[in-house]
Amino acid sequence: DVTSRRPIIAGNWKMFKTLSEAAALVEGVKPLDAVTGGVDVVVCPPFTALDRVVGVLRGTGIAVGAQDVYWEDSGAFTGEISPVMLKDIGCRYVIIGHSERRQFFGETDEKVNRKIKAVLKHGLVPIMCVGETLAEREAGRTEEVIHTQASAGLAGLAPDQAGGLVIAYEPVWAIGTGKTASDQDAQQVIAYIRSLVRDWYGAPAADQVRIQYGGSVKPNNTAGLMAQPDIDGALVGGASLEAASFTGIVQAA
Ligand code: PGA
Repeated sequence: DVTSRRPIIAGNWKMFKTLSEAAALVEGVKPLDAVTGGVDVVVCPPFTALDRVVGVLRGTGIAVGAQDVYWEDSGAFTGEISPVMLKDIGCRYVIIGHSERRQFFGETDEKVNRKIKAVLKHGLVPIMCVGETLAEREAGRTEEVIHTQASAGLAGLAPDQAGGLVIAYEPVWAIGTGKTASDQDAQQVIAYIRSLVRDWYGAPAADQVRIQYGGSVKPNNTAGLMAQPDIDGALVGGASLEAASFTGIVQAA
C-alpha cells in the first residue's frame, strides 16, 4: 500500500563543506523540522562534520547519515570508519554504493553487500545506490545492470531487513548533469526494482521498502517525481548544498 510508505528526502553533501560551512548549512536546514510533517529528512555530511551536525540537529526529527562505511566493527584498517563509530556519534543512515564510489574508488557489488549487512547488524539504515550509465541505457541494458547491482547488493538479507532498506535509483547520466530522468522513466525503473524485491523477499518487503530517485533533483522537479506511485523520495546532491533549495525540495515532497 503506497500510502503506508513515508517519503524520505536525503541530502548527499559529497566532499563539500568545511566544519564551519557545515554548521552554517545545517542551521539553515534545521527550521525544516517544524514543517516536515509526513516526510523523513536526512542530511549526509562528510565524516569530519558528522559529529557537529548531529549536535546541531539534536532534539529535532532531522536525521544524519554518513556517505560510506567499512564492514568491520574495528581493527587495523587504516583510514576506515566502522558502523560502530557511526552509530556511536548518532548517525542513523549510511549511503552505500554511490556511483562515484563505484567509479572512482573500486566499490563492487560484493563490498556493497558486506557494508549493507554490517550496517544492518548495528541498527543503521542503508541507503543503497544503484543506477546505469548512459552507455548502458543507450544499449538497452538498464534493467540488466539494475538486476545485477540489486541482486548482489541485497543477497542474503532477511525479508524484514530488505523491507527496512532505502534504495536510491540514481542513473549515472543524471547525476550532477542537470539532466533529470523523466518522471515516467524514473517510475519505470523504480517499479522494476520493487518487483525484484517482491520476487526475492516477498510482497510485504516490496510494499515496505522505500525507493528514492536521485540525479539532478531540484525544487521544481520534485513534485512530479514524487507523484509517481513507486517513487518514495529523493537523494539530492548539488541542491542539498544550499539550505534554500534543500528546503524547497522537502516542501515539494
Ligand atoms: P545531484 O547528485 O543531485 O547533484 O545530481 C545526486 C547524487 O549523486 O546523489
